[in-house]
Amino acid sequence: MKAIGIDIGGTEIKAGIVTEKGKILKEIIIETNSYYGKKKLISNLERIIRKLDSKSIKAIGIGFAGDVDSKKGQIVQSPNIQCMNKVFLVKELKKKFRKKIFLQNDATLMTFAEALLGAGKKYKIVVGLTAGTGIGSGIVINKQIYSGRDNLTEIGHTVINFFGPKCSCKNNGCLEQYVGIKALMKITEIRMEMHNSKLKKMWPLTPKKVDTAAKKGDKVAKAILKETGAYLGIGLTNILHFLNPDAIILGGGLSNSNILIKEAKKEMKKRAFKRVKNTKILKPKFKNKAGIVGAGLLALKAH
Ligand SMILES: [Zn+2]
Repeated sequence: MKAIGIDIGGTEIKAGIVTEKGKILKEIIIETNSYYGKKKLISNLERIIRKLDSKSIKAIGIGFAGDVDSKKGQIVQSPNIQCMNKVFLVKELKKKFRKKIFLQNDATLMTFAEALLGAGKKYKIVVGLTAGTGIGSGIVINKQIYSGRDNLTEIGHTVINFFGPKCSCKNNGCLEQYVGIKALMKITEIRMEMHNSKLKKMWPLTPKKVDTAAKKGDKVAKAILKETGAYLGIGLTNILHFLNPDAIILGGGLSNSNILIKEAKKEMKKRAFKRVKNTKILKPKFKNKAGIVGAGLLALKAH
């Protein structure tokens, strides 16, 4: 059996035909361009589905970067794709396609793919964290998505500093304010101005450039990654103490910097209870395709 998996992020829409074994057979990537509005985005989705569709495909899974109501098939709120706020996406697409369509949060689907067939497949309790602009998260227990009462599990918005910067969710000092790509870039800009760093010549900056500079010995870049890693370590410790999972999968930009990950693990070992501190911290097997695979698998399993 095969299904269409679609991963809608703030920057790109990635889609493909996904097999039961998690293989992507055909892939389409387009820019999200959410500033063109809801109608354009939905018509782009329709175009993608038509290109991937065939008689053998009975179901479509969609991951969306934001708060989604899976039961109603509705996007409740999305800070990065605001034109889709309150849209009943499943209903809109069902007007054109006679398929079963499922909607879920994108980070949850990344975790789902990894827990079923990826880095976490040997484990029962798997947590996923993924760094995009902010921090997304998902929980999968015994191969089932744990969605709580409202399909809202947001580890990125757990507070790690009571006096920290204001977050879009109205809290202060959320994990996302310290560890997401946006946060990393903010810290980098401040530090770069304060110190004489090679980073100044590398504008516009990306997390990858900061990591490369650190590897080449740039002290400021290294200090930034270590600091961010330590904050991530606090976040990981909270997850360990709250859920006692078997494994935590770190996706997105988070998993790409070994300096950051090493520091996060060090901080976690320093803080966590002895019996939980050997929890596996893993990189995603499906890398940046985990969202497509998870969306496809959701459609195949729920179908
Ligand atoms: Zn927050």
